[in-house]
Amino acid sequence: MAQYSSTFAPPERILMGPGPSTVPARVLQAMSAPTLGHLDPAYLAIMDETRRLMRQVMATENELTMAISGTGSAGMEACVCNLVEPGDEMLVGVNGVFGGRMRDVAERYGAQVHAIEAPWGKSIDPAEVRRMLQQHPRTKIVGIVHAETSTGVWQPMDEIAAIVQEHGALLLVDCVTSLGGLPVATDEWKADAIYSGTQKCLSCPPGLAPVTFSARAAEVIRNRKTKVTSWYLDASMLMNYWGSDRVYHHTAPINMTYALREALLMVVEEGLEQRYARHMLNHRALRAGLESMHLNYLPDRSLPTLNAVAVPEGVDDAKVRGRLLNEFGIEIGAGLGPFKGKAWRIGLMGHGSTQRNVILILSALGSLLRDQGIEVSVDEALAAANQIFRAGESNS
Ligand SMILES: *Cc1c(COP(=O)(O)O)cnc(C)c1O
Repeated sequence: MAQYSSTFAPPERILMGPGPSTVPARVLQAMSAPTLGHLDPAYLAIMDETRRLMRQVMATENELTMAISGTGSAGMEACVCNLVEPGDEMLVGVNGVFGGRMRDVAERYGAQVHAIEAPWGKSIDPAEVRRMLQQHPRTKIVGIVHAETSTGVWQPMDEIAAIVQEHGALLLVDCVTSLGGLPVATDEWKADAIYSGTQKCLSCPPGLAPVTFSARAAEVIRNRKTKVTSWYLDASMLMNYWGSDRVYHHTAPINMTYALREALLMVVEEGLEQRYARHMLNHRALRAGLESMHLNYLPDRSLPTLNAVAVPEGVDDAKVRGRLLNEFGIEIGAGLGPFKGKAWRIGLMGHGSTQRNVILILSALGSLLRDQGIEVSVDEALAAANQIFRAGESNS
């Protein structure tokens, strides 16, 4: 038999990539509480609390709010498969990996998808959404990625939401890298379906996907002509369990629910506005430091939760990331698709959005860049970041 270590000790990392983010001890402890049965009244009470907390963090009154068993992609699939019937027309904003994934998922469920494209690093233009809706008047759903983690673009939603509303289509929004890090205004946007994941700005391990559907979306689901193609993700059947009927569908990931409840409670305890302000301040400080080292941001409007910067000319991308991991225990993300080898993606998500992490990554990255022969000053980068922190303190 192969030899296994008797102590299980994965290395300690500082997760500053595109997710997962570092999980606070309190959430890990909640996860290790005794497993209950999925119909135990004590567990059902925990589910109800989790639903209330999800509504609070998603800024919605939606009855149809629950956590899908699976990661953020399962949330995407759940929203798509419940709303789409074969032959439906759908518009999807494609300006990165996740918009592309939404298109793929929708096509697999039989949607006829028209992409609203924008170059990588650019947000989707509301005028394009309007034009595409005019060109495709039968559009049933418009899918938009709020936080495009592959490019770091923060998509403005207000104008697009109003245009979709005016047309009468359903609005579906990917909030995987925004929920818990920047405002997700479900009801204000009149969004019909929102999905997220536990592992990004909620700082909970990967494994659940909070989703919410508007009353209008619930009506659309009720009036479907065809059965939902996915048995596992059928919202009506899932609600028979999450709602008051408590009918067994599949065994809930009990301990993951504990973790999500705890992570959401931490968000609510901190306060949504305070939490968004913290993410913004740490992002601004990091940005000041990175830009002082001539690391240029790729998106037109950057997320506070994910910082995508260009790898400087002549720098060995993989080597720098490898040394960050091995010498400093810090994980950052590589570029994907057209950004492969050209971008670093530095996450400041949830529990990982701290002054300490900002100072740490600037110091570590700066020293590695110097080793690569790039003339940068770590002192100046730290001074630039600290200036933002000091101004932030005097504002609060
Ligand atoms: C991470 C991510 C997903 C997918 O989530 P998984 O947890 O990896 O399944 C979907 N959309 C966006 C914008 C993401 O950042």
